[in-house]
Amino acid sequence: MKIAVCVKQIPDPATPYQLDPTTHWVIRPPDQVMDDTDRYGVEVALQLKEASEGEVVLVSMGPAGNMQGIRQALAMGADKAVIIDDAELKGSGALSTAKVLAAAIKREGADLVIAGTESSDGYTGVVPQQISELLDVPALTFARKFEKTETGIRIERQTQSGYDVVECGLPALISVTAGVVEPRYPTFKGIMQAKQKPVDQLTVSDLGLDGDSVGGSGSGQDITEVSPVPSRQAGQVIEDDGEGHLRIVELLEQAKVV
Ligand SMILES: Cc1cc2nc3c(=O)[nH]c(=O)nc-3n(C[C@H](O)[C@H](O)[C@H](O)COP(=O)(O)OP(=O)(O)OC[C@H]3O[C@@H](n4cnc5c(N)ncnc54)[C@H](O)[C@@H]3O)c2cc1C
Repeated sequence: MKIAVCVKQIPDPATPYQLDPTTHWVIRPPDQVMDDTDRYGVEVALQLKEASEGEVVLVSMGPAGNMQGIRQALAMGADKAVIIDDAELKGSGALSTAKVLAAAIKREGADLVIAGTESSDGYTGVVPQQISELLDVPALTFARKFEKTETGIRIERQTQSGYDVVECGLPALISVTAGVVEPRYPTFKGIMQAKQKPVDQLTVSDLGLDGDSVGGSGSGQDITEVSPVPSRQAGQVIEDDGEGHLRIVELLEQAKVV
């Protein structure tokens, strides 16, 4: 089974990053890390490969930088990576990103595509579903458990009240939640091996895509304003004079939680 895992490189959340003052786009430093969300997808792919043989290919779009994030995923055990880095992709929104990732996955001919449910920096949470639509394969989303069946894949889809069991044949896409598995830490041997693993760097034209349909012009999405998160307000202290519980119930009713 050939498994493609979508892996996004993001600026290290531990170090503050800059926004371009005009476009509001993130200025991506050369040192980027693998989005923590995608460690779960990589681990799921590795467990499936270990159970039934196959190949795990990482697919990533964005400025390659020094590929630290990609090497982190290769060090976990993935076999190779494909990264699409092209100036034409500047200003890509979620749909442009999905078009590029879908084209790269198609080129690889994957049986199963794995993605996180939402990234930690953009968090639109729509890219996996868009990829499945573009590849015309079923999407099993929000997997909190997974299992390979004889002909395909079965997951437990997290819902607000519990979970649904959903299954389908291959090819298919699954998006995985944090908690689906415990991602492994790369071993020293894995880190050394990752340096030798193949990484294909592609452009938009390598994928046969028209530059106008991706990047900013194909995005249909623009950032018009960015504002800091308001600082948290101090809570309200209710002194109990014997009637405090009534005041708490009143506030809960106002907040429509009871
Ligand atoms: C204003 C703006 C400017 C941008 N400029 C650029 C640019 O100059 N160059 C560029 O390459 N991109 C650019 N992007 C694309 C951006 O970095 C995201 O990849 C894209 O918008 C996806 O959105 P998200 O992170 O919210 O996806 P979500 O749907 O929240 O992500 C869900 C999952 O999809 C997968 N995924 C999402 N994005 C990627 C990715 N890029 N590679 C691999 N897997 C992924 C991951 O598995 C992730 O866990 C830009 C986006 C915006 C909105």
